[in-house]
Amino acid sequence: MREDGGLVELHAHLYGCIRHDALLQHILVSDRIDWSAYQGSYEAAFGVRPDPEAIVERVRRKEAGAENEFKELFVFGDGDGGRFERFQAKFDLLIAASELSRPRSDPGFEGRLENELDRFMLRILRDYAEIGVRHAELRMMPPPTEPRELAKGLLTRMLERAARGAELGVDARVAISLSREDPWYLWDLMRDLSLGPHGELLTGVDFCAVEEGHPPKRKSAFFDAVREHNRAAPQRALAILYHVGESFEDKSLESALRWVQEAAEMGAHRLGHAIALGVDPESFGVHTRLERAGERADQLRYDLKHAPGLERFGVRVDRERAARELSKVETFATDSMLELSYDRERLEELRKRQDYAMSAILKTGAIIEVCPTSNRRLAGLTDDAHHPVHRFVEAGLPIAVASDDPGIFDTTLPDELEWVRRTLRWSKGEIEALARRSWGYRSEVLVGMESG
Ligand SMILES: [Zn+2]
Repeated sequence: MREDGGLVELHAHLYGCIRHDALLQHILVSDRIDWSAYQGSYEAAFGVRPDPEAIVERVRRKEAGAENEFKELFVFGDGDGGRFERFQAKFDLLIAASELSRPRSDPGFEGRLENELDRFMLRILRDYAEIGVRHAELRMMPPPTEPRELAKGLLTRMLERAARGAELGVDARVAISLSREDPWYLWDLMRDLSLGPHGELLTGVDFCAVEEGHPPKRKSAFFDAVREHNRAAPQRALAILYHVGESFEDKSLESALRWVQEAAEMGAHRLGHAIALGVDPESFGVHTRLERAGERADQLRYDLKHAPGLERFGVRVDRERAARELSKVETFATDSMLELSYDRERLEELRKRQDYAMSAILKTGAIIEVCPTSNRRLAGLTDDAHHPVHRFVEAGLPIAVASDDPGIFDTTLPDELEWVRRTLRWSKGEIEALARRSWGYRSEVLVGMESG
């Protein structure tokens, strides 16, 4: 184990780590790229049709400012923020340039894709080494609709590259991001890989991308299967990494918060973002929102079950009223929409609910991954005073600061730590101590393979 003052990156997606200059290098040596799908999504999100080929041509001719123009086009900055479709549109530039966009029928498709991934990963590990990151867990979602062989090839290549990370001074680890729709699809492959060559470097399963419509409770059998694997192969155990409470347009704030608590209580080792858990309720203001009847019923069941705990934190639960509402809501079609109003009082109550949920999560030992730039630009948390990190720290929750997609955000882990230091008005020593604690939150420590 290396604890020589180096940093630990615990939340980063492989393709999100590709920096604009690495992408540009890749494009400069690529055959003709079909930009049309990217141009379409960019135009839909930003209202103008970009011409990446013209910029790349100017870079080829070494025109002043052309590289910067490319960077502007690709990086998802503060000015673009708050809307996922804009992030996706910028990310689509990378997708268009990737071998992923080539016809699968092209001879040598799989090999070229594996080589591309390997080249990008090498560059990413070098970038990490340069900024003092000594341990990095990288997540990757294999194309979900492909034959398993393609996923197997890509993940094997990732593990091989991870095994050579030490040559660069970075202990690299791999986590597989699974489809929330069907996590079982790659499960057998994951188990085989974890037991195979370099399997010790495969340290986690991750759930990311759209969370709406995928309540944690539906993953309960899958979490059981992971635990069963971990019992059977304790030296190849996998941590459960779970993005939750990051995006919750489709439900009540109480439900969004409940999902975070549920994921932790089900055994997720680390929670990605968990904004709903600690964001300042003030930031929502007085508003109304919609929620499905099925979700409302789950919330009422939660209220009834957790009433004593909630009441300890000052939330008044009228059990009879909740039970009456539950019987009524249970008669509705689960997909029918209910309107919920948020006035000042309800927002203040939410704060108490958050305090209760945080106290419950503290008992589970789950770690919260805090990715400030991502939260600012993807979740639209533009006022630093509203950021959940304040409440997480007050509640004594263990947090790991991470950079999520440092390439497309053009940020670094030290930048993210510096934001937290500034926002919390901490000293250099305090933030260094926080960064050091992340060593104890690595997947292999959380599943008991290694001591923290
Ligand atoms: Zn993420």
